[in-house]
Amino acid sequence: MNLILLGPPGAGKGTQAKILEEQHGFKQLSTGDMLRAAVTAGTAQGLRAKTIMDRGDLVSDDVIIAIVDERLSKPDVSKGVVFDGFPRTPAQADALDKMLAARGQKLDAVIEIKVDDEALVKRIVGRFTCAKCGQGYHSEFAKPKKTGICDVCGSTEFTRRVDDTEKTVRDRLQVYNKQTAPLVAYYHGQGNLHVIDGMADIADVTREVEAVISRVKA
Ligand code: ADP
Ligand code: ADP
Ligand code: ZN
Repeated sequence: MNLILLGPPGAGKGTQAKILEEQHGFKQLSTGDMLRAAVTAGTAQGLRAKTIMDRGDLVSDDVIIAIVDERLSKPDVSKGVVFDGFPRTPAQADALDKMLAARGQKLDAVIEIKVDDEALVKRIVGRFTCAKCGQGYHSEFAKPKKTGICDVCGSTEFTRRVDDTEKTVRDRLQVYNKQTAPLVAYYHGQGNLHVIDGMADIADVTREVEAVISRVKA
């Protein structure tokens, strides 16, 4: 099954994608994570992307489509993919339709996660991640069970993204509204759109996502 989690920064896409990976064996495909890995590795592509990401703009469609195409060619995506943070423009959405069709596959559902802007800002400024295993947390809404220790791997080192500031998130929300929000109408037109309330607790949002998966399977 191939799903898109569509929603602004902080909507909970990554959080839900990781849960779906564990529950269903789908692969999370996060273009943001892939770009951050390229930045850390110090590749030429990573260095070019870094300046763009730090100010909250979008990396070019060509670069993004190429990394997704390469990822979809690996054998571990056979059980399905949860697209997280991709597509973000009409050109990327069009390219995804073509990349799936070329592999004899299709999109099964696009799940739009709706969250109020002020809640998004709170989520982004409180977000942090385990430096070792990548587990996501929030200083108020999703704390580790033991303060300072990762629930998953026991590491005591955490990181925060440089673009997770109030100023940058407000810029990223504008970019979302202008460049990505038009995809809602695109997928509605395809008959693939499912809208869920992302303001609920993490577990309740998961239940809504699971309900969509059951419906599209039936
Ligand atoms: P996205 O991938 O859409 O940018 P994340 O999944 O990283 O969003 O979530 C952003 C922050 O909000 C994280 O710190 C996460 O722990 C927290 N979070 C995710 N879902 C919820 C929720 N339903 N309620 C409260 N906080 C949440
Ligand atoms: P979030 O879900 O919090 O908005 P991501 O991790 O998805 O953040 O993306 C971080 C940054 O990486 C974006 O602000 C953008 O610069 C870049 N990026 C990620 N995915 C894409 C994409 N599909 N198209 C263009 N730029 C992207
Ligand atoms: Zn960890």
